[in-house]
Amino acid sequence: MGSLASFDEVENVFSNNVNPLDPEEFRSQGHMIIDFLADYYQNIQKYPVLSQVEPGYLVKRLPTTAPYVAEPVEAILQDVQQHIIPGITHWQSPNYFAYFPSSGSVAGFLGEMLSTGFNVVGFNWISSPAATELESIVMDWLGQMLDLPRAFLFSGNGGGVLQGTTCEAILCTVTAARDRMLLKVGRDNIGKLVVYASDQTHSALAKAAKIAGIDPKNFRAIKTKKSAAFGLSPESLRHAISIDVKAGLIPLYLCATIGTTSTTAVDPLIPLCDVAKEYGMWVHVDAAYAGSASICPEFRHFIDGVEGADSFSLNAHKWFFTTLDCCCMWVKDPSSLIKSLSTNPEYLRNKASDSKQVVDYKDWQITLSRRFRAMKLWLVLRRYGVANLRNFLRGHVKMAKRFEDLVAGDGRFEVVVPRYFAMVCFRVPPSALPFRNQVGNDETRANEFNRELLETVNAAGRIYMTHAEVDGIYMLRFAVGASLTEDKHVIMAWKVVQETVDAMLNTL
Ligand SMILES: *Cc1c(COP(=O)(O)O)cnc(C)c1O
Repeated sequence: MGSLASFDEVENVFSNNVNPLDPEEFRSQGHMIIDFLADYYQNIQKYPVLSQVEPGYLVKRLPTTAPYVAEPVEAILQDVQQHIIPGITHWQSPNYFAYFPSSGSVAGFLGEMLSTGFNVVGFNWISSPAATELESIVMDWLGQMLDLPRAFLFSGNGGGVLQGTTCEAILCTVTAARDRMLLKVGRDNIGKLVVYASDQTHSALAKAAKIAGIDPKNFRAIKTKKSAAFGLSPESLRHAISIDVKAGLIPLYLCATIGTTSTTAVDPLIPLCDVAKEYGMWVHVDAAYAGSASICPEFRHFIDGVEGADSFSLNAHKWFFTTLDCCCMWVKDPSSLIKSLSTNPEYLRNKASDSKQVVDYKDWQITLSRRFRAMKLWLVLRRYGVANLRNFLRGHVKMAKRFEDLVAGDGRFEVVVPRYFAMVCFRVPPSALPFRNQVGNDETRANEFNRELLETVNAAGRIYMTHAEVDGIYMLRFAVGASLTEDKHVIMAWKVVQETVDAMLNTL
């Protein structure tokens, strides 16, 4: 009886008086979170860049059940500091050089807050006209900044859409290409459709093709060579296609990459699009990382030939100061996407959509519900302007160049592939290793040495890099792109690498 009474009391005190969207509570607690994050950024250099926790660390620290009674934000933030931050790999640290960085920015965070703060579900125009219209406008702005052909812009009867990620952009375009082709050749022929790319193409493509029902046997990852800097050779593409066509298969889709994930290789768009055109294939250009660079006139040439493609995408959440998720995708023929992806249930019908005068972005993507992502891209474009954005990117390229020069200036290292953007692939080559205790061949030994080098560097926590293994060569990737990185961090990173190699060579 006594315990039941106190149970009721708890219900009354802690539940009935709480308004989950109380404006004053939002104000005061919102300020606390901002202060917390500002302090985090002030102190970010003090944390080991790569999280040092062991798997399962958190379950040992947190209660086994959710709290029944509400807890204060102060207590939660204390736990974030104590238990969550140790398990965070600090992507925004100035000493973060791994994968492709996710360049954060104040404008990106503020845009995210506005987007999340309105919390609208903008699936079609009427569900929030501003969300749709702002998206179309910023996509045309960014398209112009990239000097995309007009055919990709709304003003040229194409159009842009903000997807969550490149994986979704690729899946949507493969699906549109598939349906366009099947309309011509008949649904029964889905087993004959073939998707092409280089062996350096992101794994997103193979997954998308599989999801879209392309027979995994009909996925061609065409071999690239170090001598061609791992770019896809148009002759190799033509050769692969001609074998398939002879075998009665149907070429469907080519994914060309500008800035591959392993080494930032660049596929030559002009000749590749020429080949694809002969066969009526859909060409998608995946410029997830490097596409942003094309807002600088001096880097625009990397996407020369994009006019021959059907679709183009880049991740603003990689190297464009916008928070995850924000993949910018343009298509020349939105109707091909819409034919594949549109739905028209009665409960979503409205005059605006029926009039066909508006964009309903639900028909350009996989999901129905969608976030107001345009807000954050708009904030980034407006707060920095083209001039600053170009300078941010140039600064990163310059720092990577600096690192490249440091690597090249030390005879024990080599730069493995040409540096095009802000990422340097390097290693200690076999020739720099003493020939003692030989096991296996020289390349294998070098690979093991470089793997240990990377693990040792990362375990120390001062910097974080990742690796690639291409054509049997294990290399370290040094990717500049975290917004807080300055020259001094690059120089410190190089010192860490050098000192680690000194120590390792001494014990060989
Ligand atoms: C990062 C990357 C992807 C995957 O991007 P998501 O947005 O995570 O799907 C695809 N392609 C390339 C070239 C990438 O660098």
